[in-house]
Amino acid sequence: MRIAAPTVRARLTLWHAAALTLVVCLFAAGVFVFVRTSLYRSLDQQIREDLATIEKVYREETGDLGELALRTGMQFEVIEGSTVIHRTAGWPIAGATQFRQATLDDSTHRIVAARDERPVRRTLWTLAAIMATAIPCAVGLAIVGGYLLAGRVLAPVGAMADTARRITAESLDARLPVANAADEFGRLASVFNETLSRLDAAFEQLRRFTADASHELRTPLTAIRSVGEVALQRSLSTDGYRDVIGSMLEEVDRLARLVENLLLLTRAEAGRIPVTRATVDLRELVAGVSDGLRVLAEEKTQELIVELSGPLTVHCDATVLRQGITNLLHNAIKFTPPKGLIRIAATSTASGDAAIEVQDSGPGIPAADQQRVFERFYRVDQARSRDSGGTGLGLAIARWAVEASGGRIELESLKGQGALFRVVLPRA
Ligand code: ADP
Repeated sequence: MRIAAPTVRARLTLWHAAALTLVVCLFAAGVFVFVRTSLYRSLDQQIREDLATIEKVYREETGDLGELALRTGMQFEVIEGSTVIHRTAGWPIAGATQFRQATLDDSTHRIVAARDERPVRRTLWTLAAIMATAIPCAVGLAIVGGYLLAGRVLAPVGAMADTARRITAESLDARLPVANAADEFGRLASVFNETLSRLDAAFEQLRRFTADASHELRTPLTAIRSVGEVALQRSLSTDGYRDVIGSMLEEVDRLARLVENLLLLTRAEAGRIPVTRATVDLRELVAGVSDGLRVLAEEKTQELIVELSGPLTVHCDATVLRQGITNLLHNAIKFTPPKGLIRIAATSTASGDAAIEVQDSGPGIPAADQQRVFERFYRVDQARSRDSGGTGLGLAIARWAVEASGGRIELESLKGQGALFRVVLPRA
């Protein structure tokens, strides 16, 4: 059978009681030894004084030894050579263990005095008995007190556990109780609460994203259905059906693009898109992107200027970065009216970093929206973006692509004066 690990409370109590027992036992042993030593020392001192008194009486007047014994109750014997001068009544106690004795040896005589040591032993026994009953009581009290104290100290942990157990994805706004923010449990609770806040924010973002994504997906689906329903209600010519199918396919295209972008962003955020960095020449990359989109600009009779200065190498994943730059240039073409001017350049910044600038002469982005345009599904002008076939994810993907390449995107724009997106990348 496996014994369950004891609770923290039990462990604290046991350690505390064990330490206390050890200390109390050591202390008691010390006291006992000290008391014993000093009792025997004073007994020995008394015997020595007895010896001195007897010696004095013996030297002054031999006959008085009997009277001394009667008067004081001292036990002693005085021997001169091999003659016993005096021996108190019942003296053969000399060898008895209940008596403690001392000898005074002189060339002419020898005095042996003894005193009953039973009172000392009794005192020591009493002391030992007191200790033997008091120590277990003290240890018992320590265990009970320690257990109660540990319970009190650990109570916040129980409260935290109770609250934490009730927290689910739907109640991430709940927080653990913080009894005392300065102590260890308080700090633990605070750290846990911070984690909860982050989780709450992440969940909220996810919820919003899901809601936005559903909304975005529903729009083309609704359009496909209504186009189909209208077409079914009347008979159309072949060209009419062609038109209907054409507009349905347009919506399907938009759906496909949206789903593709959603997948890309989701995988990017989960870190599941492998980013393999290599040395990339930005001039080649910019030339490639602008060649790919040139026809779109030509369709809108826009002028596309490509500026490539000296060699400009960075360390990044070319495929990922190309995706980001394509989105920026695509937006520039999309939002700039016909006959507008679009410029894409590979240059370097004042601080020596590599930069790609995508500039247009379009409507620009109001200052208030400049931070938010990088958010998913955020659009400055809903209708215009939708008409142009945008999914609202282009800049979010661009930002991810640039950051995954170790760079950052800066945006400069004034409403009505065109937009300038600058991608800054550390040079290889
Ligand atoms: P969309 O699919 O709508 O283009 P994006 O994430 O690419 O989504 O862009 C977000 C919004 O930022 C756009 O809807 C648009 O309002 C604004 N925007 C992006 N690029 C430009 C630009 N070059 N000129 C003006 N507005 C822009």
